[in-house]
Amino acid sequence: MDFLSDIGKKITETAKTVTKKSESLVEITKLNLAIGNEEDKIKKAFLEIGSELYKNFQNGESYGDYFDTKCTEIKEMEENIAKLRERVLSLKGTKTCTGCNEVIDEDVKYCPNCGVKTPVENVE
Ligand SMILES: [Zn+2]
Repeated sequence: MDFLSDIGKKITETAKTVTKKSESLVEITKLNLAIGNEEDKIKKAFLEIGSELYKNFQNGESYGDYFDTKCTEIKEMEENIAKLRERVLSLKGTKTCTGCNEVIDEDVKYCPNCGVKTPVENVE
């Protein structure tokens, strides 16, 4: 084998290796995307399971102490969120109507949207 054909062979082999490596990189990227998609679907399924379980808990179902405790914690967090939202509305000079859930002025006695009598906070 002469010198030039030896070099030519080496260049061809190197090119094949580079091509193979870049094909592998493309394949790895595709596989990682597919893995990420499946992981996202699992997360979504877990969320759906949790939401369904919590909905059933609110309707009186029990799935044992562990889940009941978790659901009770979620219920408390939802109540905290509601209180925090009301505080934000109050700072904006508004409140949520107890009749229609519309955001209305804090100092109105009757909801302009549904007409329900709304409690007015005594500001001292
Ligand atoms: Zn209303």
